[in-house]
Amino acid sequence: MSFGIDDLPVRDELRGKSPYGAPQLDVPVRLNTNENPYPLPEALVERIAERVREAARNLNRYPDRDVVELRTRLAQYLTDTSGHEVGPANVWAANGSNEVIQQLLQTFGGPGRTAIGFEPSYSMHGLIARGTGTGWISGPRNEDFTIDLAAAEQAVAERRPDVVFITTPNNPTGTAVPAETVLALYEAAQRAKPSMVVVDEAYIEFSHGDSLLPLLEGRPNLVVSRTMSKAFGAAGLRLGYLAAHPAVVDAVQLVRLPYHLSAVTQATALAALEHTDTLLKYVEQLKSERDRLVTELLAIGYEVTASDANFVQFGRFEDAHAVWQQILDRGVLVRDNGVPGWLRVTAGTPEENDAFLDAVRDVKKEQRP
Ligand SMILES: *Cc1c(COP(=O)(O)O)cnc(C)c1O
Repeated sequence: MSFGIDDLPVRDELRGKSPYGAPQLDVPVRLNTNENPYPLPEALVERIAERVREAARNLNRYPDRDVVELRTRLAQYLTDTSGHEVGPANVWAANGSNEVIQQLLQTFGGPGRTAIGFEPSYSMHGLIARGTGTGWISGPRNEDFTIDLAAAEQAVAERRPDVVFITTPNNPTGTAVPAETVLALYEAAQRAKPSMVVVDEAYIEFSHGDSLLPLLEGRPNLVVSRTMSKAFGAAGLRLGYLAAHPAVVDAVQLVRLPYHLSAVTQATALAALEHTDTLLKYVEQLKSERDRLVTELLAIGYEVTASDANFVQFGRFEDAHAVWQQILDRGVLVRDNGVPGWLRVTAGTPEENDAFLDAVRDVKKEQRP
């Protein structure tokens, strides 16, 4: 036996665990990680090159530690798209929203504290909780994957978590959470502790409904987290951000590493924010492809969960993993998130979606006697 992780004096809670990762397989059509299928437009690629060239001239210096220009532009984007006034003091940015979540858990969670999420949901919330020594509580959902408000309120009242995660639209189910549910859970969390409520809006640009940013008004313990990884088609950039009361932004400074966001990242993100109009046009196309996937999957005879994101959860299967393999055998990679009976497909280009639909039509035919 070779020397491995468990032979090292690692923390007890990390023993026997595996790292996060969607299996990436070399197949023609990959619809498994909710990426945007479109490369950045050429004009934006040119602008990034220009901005990065400028930044490169100053790479002997540390970057802007407080990320002021980028936070100002992000605040402008949030204000323009939500109609809710957001200023630079309300915004904080980091390397992907995963790092934003990590900083929030380092600030408001940690040893002796707990966080709750309503599962199935984004598995990284629980994994980052573990990485920061925060206890994880798996909260309930209804059979149809909406949040069971009465049960959720009860869990918050009884367990008194320090951080409450609400993902809307939810991953992997696509389910949007109504504002009233978020408000009720916020109230429950304040009665119980008070605790922080983090609304993860990674997919909000794809939603039929509006951002919950206006709820920030008068609610200092509420945080909305966002990312450029999905709608902006910039997963490789690693840029996530939050909007909250300025006190929350001040609080996360206590745990962020100095100069955590490189000058190259800041320059690239600033370039992307100059092209939001073009980037959001791709979003419109992906939304209609998402809706087409829903319609076609239903027509083929599958069940689908109503989706407000750039992916669709479909089923139901007695053995979801076996069906995942059958689809893969036809050259299309989808995601098995471990939700019993269900698989998840990301909306790709029209051609990729056609390939997926052909594959699942074929699988369905095979199942019939
Ligand atoms: C993809 C995803 C993120 C994005 O993480 P990044 O670190 O910004 O790439 C955050 N939350 C949810 C629910 C996601 O699905």
